[in-house]
Amino acid sequence: MAYQENGLDPSDWQGFRQQAHAMLDDMLDFTEQTRARPVWREAPPASRAAIQGEPLPTEPMALSAIHQTFKDHILPFSAGNTHPGFMGWVQGGGTAVGMLAEMLAAGLNANLGGRNQMPILVERQITEWMKTLFGFPGSASGLFVTGTSMANLMAVLIARNAALGHGVRQDGLGGDQPRLTAYTSRASHGCVAQAMDLSGQGQTWLRRIGTNARHEIQLDELRQAIEQDRRAGLHPFLIVGTAGSVDTGSIDDLAALAQLAREQGMWFHVDGAFGALGMLSPQIAPRLRGLDRADSIAFDFHKWGQVPYDAGFLLVRDGTLHHDTFAAPAAYLRRETQGISAGDFWPCDYGPDLSRGFRALKTWFTLKAFGTQGLGQAIHHTCELAQYLRERVEQTPELELLAPVALNIVCLRHRGHSAMSEAQRDAFNADIVTAVQLSGLAAPSSTTVDGRFAIRAAIVNHRTRRQDIDTLVQAVLAQGARLLSATATQEVAR
Ligand SMILES: *Cc1c(COP(=O)(O)O)cnc(C)c1O
Repeated sequence: MAYQENGLDPSDWQGFRQQAHAMLDDMLDFTEQTRARPVWREAPPASRAAIQGEPLPTEPMALSAIHQTFKDHILPFSAGNTHPGFMGWVQGGGTAVGMLAEMLAAGLNANLGGRNQMPILVERQITEWMKTLFGFPGSASGLFVTGTSMANLMAVLIARNAALGHGVRQDGLGGDQPRLTAYTSRASHGCVAQAMDLSGQGQTWLRRIGTNARHEIQLDELRQAIEQDRRAGLHPFLIVGTAGSVDTGSIDDLAALAQLAREQGMWFHVDGAFGALGMLSPQIAPRLRGLDRADSIAFDFHKWGQVPYDAGFLLVRDGTLHHDTFAAPAAYLRRETQGISAGDFWPCDYGPDLSRGFRALKTWFTLKAFGTQGLGQAIHHTCELAQYLRERVEQTPELELLAPVALNIVCLRHRGHSAMSEAQRDAFNADIVTAVQLSGLAAPSSTTVDGRFAIRAAIVNHRTRRQDIDTLVQAVLAQGARLLSATATQEVAR
């Protein structure tokens, strides 16, 4: 498709249309037939070479040929998170509805930095819906971002400004202010510590508080840490609670954290990356008590919300503070009362991005197409499946559970044999995880729970069924037995 009279648009719209319909059908087939494929396959050397060996294209190439390369070498070798057997990490499965909406958004090519355009109103409407869902006031604000990592960073910056005043935007940290200290549990996501780093405050000043048997933050220890830092002349400014920890799905006592933050005059932020949308399920919502008292909530529509990547969100109780943390007047961003430069809400005033895609559209389509009921049921179903997996583990003598199952994440391990050392048992389970992934039957991941290696099944995908849980259990047992007999044979041979 060379440069021509009509720019980069097709010269043959009719032929292009046919190709476009074929590409759409292909992706619908991909989604419809997800279950028929292996969860994951290693990309063969030929596919790697087809992509990596190619020099920067100078000559135009036919769209059909490019699409063929995509079909042959890219499509079959993604990480597998659309597949019902994918339980590695907390990743959403996406939907066909979301895919279509993403196509519409790309066609519109809207830049949601600001200006007088309807797409901004769609994003704002989702913010309104989220205020309703989370019980936030009308004066709250919200913004789509890449993901919770970015939303957490922004929350830390807003909390910093709340503590130090907006002068910090000019003067930076340091000077004669006392150091700001933040608090979160050891079970919180690594991006919370990273946010302290990226905001120039340093990870040392994030206090990692211990957890109880349910992997929730220890409130006494938290209180003591805050008091100790105050006595040392530091300035405790932020508590980050977790609603759905990445390792085990645990939920901190959010009501208690909200209360403590209020008593201490601190900002209360909740990392609810996947867990916050548990509010969509009547069964899970009561477990998130206290979330409505947060100063800010970070969460992802691309996890439990099943919106295609990426669609993170930050909700902030004090919309003015949010605005004043990021707004940066510039001549080329001049606002008018009429015309394209009008509009009273410019998202670029609420975060570090100026140019922004229309993430809101795929989220709007998803919320409308399934309703909060449909999404809430899908979310609840993943928790029921987690309980089913817990039962299967408890009923299987070779397996044991390593953490309570609070939501949709199950941490288990194979017991191996009694003569194994703990280190050997860890390595044995790591080998099982790799072998199960390589089998293409299921995709668990791993983590460490109380110092022990855990096989981790995070059930996020709305396509997952009981049969997929059974497949996972069978695959773990089969690979465990295979590895045990292989070591036994080696020992005999020795
Ligand atoms: C996934 C996750 C994150 C990071 O979110 P991204 O959207 O991947 O940036 C943060 N916290 C928790 C608890 C998560 O599960």
